[in-house]
Amino acid sequence: MTVRAIDQFGRTIEYLRISVTDKCNFRCLYCMPAEGLQWLPRSDLLSYEEITGIVARLAGLGLRRLRITGGEPTIRPQLHKLIAMLRQIPRIEDIALSTNGVSLPSLANDLAAAGLDRVNISADSLQPERLARISRRKLDFDPIVSALAAERAGLDPVKINVVVMRGINDDEIVDFARLTFDHAWHIRFIELMPVGGMRDVTWEHVVPSDEVIERASMLGALSPCDAPVQGNGPAAYYRFAGAEGTIGVITPMSHTYCATCNRVRLTADGRLRTCLFGDHEVNLRDAYRGGEDLEPIFRQALAAKPLEHELLQMKIGGLRALSQVGG
Ligand code: SAM
Ligand code: SF4
Repeated sequence: MTVRAIDQFGRTIEYLRISVTDKCNFRCLYCMPAEGLQWLPRSDLLSYEEITGIVARLAGLGLRRLRITGGEPTIRPQLHKLIAMLRQIPRIEDIALSTNGVSLPSLANDLAAAGLDRVNISADSLQPERLARISRRKLDFDPIVSALAAERAGLDPVKINVVVMRGINDDEIVDFARLTFDHAWHIRFIELMPVGGMRDVTWEHVVPSDEVIERASMLGALSPCDAPVQGNGPAAYYRFAGAEGTIGVITPMSHTYCATCNRVRLTADGRLRTCLFGDHEVNLRDAYRGGEDLEPIFRQALAAKPLEHELLQMKIGGLRALSQVGG
């Protein structure tokens, strides 16, 4: 019998984003203040054993796909061990990673060998100086080298996420789009979400995805195409004639995808969040540590999952940075 988790609006919830740390080796303009955030104490973090125990229970209730995220997940030591533990859980069909890519050249092989299926690399510029300005760290990181390392390790598909910011990196839309001619990569342009009290980016920096597609079309006609992996994400995909890869747009600001939302999040300190924004969360860590049955807690949380996120209702004051909620 197929077990499914259904929320109060009839949406099937099968995708869990797991944050393994709130810390990061970057300080991206739109995500973290330069001085960092108030980090979680070590004892608050879920251990790899606890994450695996919680996921095993939720897999029995219908979860099928996982994404490891953060903060920057690759700064948590021995991440491949967590991947290997999650891989052992029956019914988990897909394990993906979101990373800024800095550590992929050294970690991609171990992660793939442990059972990681695929990777999303966040890269907001192909120009080293500009990348350092946006991430406020100079780590000698080349996203192309990271993507090639992921590809060589067998991680498939490789997606590259670009947060487009007017006047900051929007002049590189065409450069990123051009990569898809020769590489079977999926370049996804994300609309900036001006959340988390960031000082350096505002609504004025948001570039609507329709404009992104129009500007990428300078290279040739773009035709709509199928998603590289069905089911998980809210991106719309396009392809240039004869191109190896695709272009995607993720549009949290200009088009809502809440109606088909299939996901929940587990924060690094073990809170299950049913919506990216707002305070819809329950403490699974304490329930798990106390030996409680997670099923009624999970079902109650799904019963309260909101129809759409508060960004759409423009209630954005005081919203937390994505690094804190496992964006
Ligand atoms: N550190 C990893 C990374 O950068 O991929 C994983 C965590 S990061 C919070 C996940 C994704 O959220 C990244 O693709 C990042 O670009 C995106 N993100 C963070 N803050 C955002 C914002 N304000 N608007 C749009 N995307 C954002
Ligand atoms: Fe770190 Fe990712 Fe946030 Fe950038 S977007 S500061 S890499 S967590």
